[in-house]
Amino acid sequence: MISQIIDEYTIEKLRSLINGAQRIAITCHKSPDGDALGSTLALCHILRRIGKEAVVVTPDMAPKSLEFIPGVRDLIVYTKHEARARLVLNDAQLLFCLDFNSMKRIDRLNEIIEPLKVKRVLIDHHLDPDKDSFNLMISHPEASSTCELVFRVIMQLGLLRLMDRMAASCLYVGMLTDTGGFAYSCDNPEFYEIVASIVRRRFDRIMLYNKAMNTFSADSLRLQGYAINEKMQLFREHGAALITLSKQELERYNYNRGDTETLVNKPLAIPEIYWSVFMREDADKIKISCRSQGDFSVSDICARYFNGGGHENAAGGDFIGSLDEAVGVFHQILKDLFPDKEQSEQSEQ
Ligand code: 5GP
Ligand code: MN
Repeated sequence: MISQIIDEYTIEKLRSLINGAQRIAITCHKSPDGDALGSTLALCHILRRIGKEAVVVTPDMAPKSLEFIPGVRDLIVYTKHEARARLVLNDAQLLFCLDFNSMKRIDRLNEIIEPLKVKRVLIDHHLDPDKDSFNLMISHPEASSTCELVFRVIMQLGLLRLMDRMAASCLYVGMLTDTGGFAYSCDNPEFYEIVASIVRRRFDRIMLYNKAMNTFSADSLRLQGYAINEKMQLFREHGAALITLSKQELERYNYNRGDTETLVNKPLAIPEIYWSVFMREDADKIKISCRSQGDFSVSDICARYFNGGGHENAAGGDFIGSLDEAVGVFHQILKDLFPDKEQSEQSEQ
């Protein structure tokens, strides 16, 4: 039995917001991942099936590695189609905000959305949503993914009969990728009941699994090999690992967005390592990605040191400055969190 975790009042409010809107826009965070794309595209598809003019507007492009998700080609990408994005958002009678907790996460797309009067509905599973930014909030940090929440919203609205192969494929990709292939954040048995319900829609599950979890370009595989072989630093006494990749190193392997998506998880395979940090030098900032196991919260670290956040075991943020300076912050974190441990003696490459 899949329980109704969203309260009845919220569902009725949502039903009336949807009933009162014909043109509906849906957005997600910048650098969209499988969960952001899967949840927005599934919701868009279901809304179209009930006769709405629904569109997905993303702050920037989907990575090449996720172009297989059904509907990705129809996205209105702000950095590519600014005028069209402006038009549909200005025209929208309802706006869904999926898979992010603060308007900071949609980057410059917020310049269009901020002044709009349109009602905003949040569906998200990140900690500490910014309450003032949304008119209706469906925020469940205990959920595996926003895709799980979109399933629950569709179910509680009584629209599951419209869940076809396409919507199910999208939700499957998000639930799969946000849990690292059903590995973490999926302890609730209901998670698997939802997967069962989705899988009944008879999409090509193995093909999607392979594309989502096990498809990399040769360059990407080589870059990951290089990063692990030559760039992974272990701080065994602190249970920590650090990988950094400079712009130059990324260029050497013809880096495309998405190529390093799961790299930060790799050091956690080592038994003593329970938190891992990856720093990637982008054009204008250092992108930080953190993962952990158990009750060591990387979202606290990202909030405190990297102007970011996320989930307890998977979080991220930005650092404005050089890669070396960002590494300096990492060492400061080690000092702050483990004041009694001597870094230089016990760290190892
Ligand atoms: P990733 O490491 O895959 O980029 O992100 C891991 C998690 O941290 C995701 O849930 C993502 O939403 C969150 N996250 C990543 N980057 C940022 C950021 O810059 N700010 C905030 N608040 N969260 C982030
Ligand atoms: Mn997510």
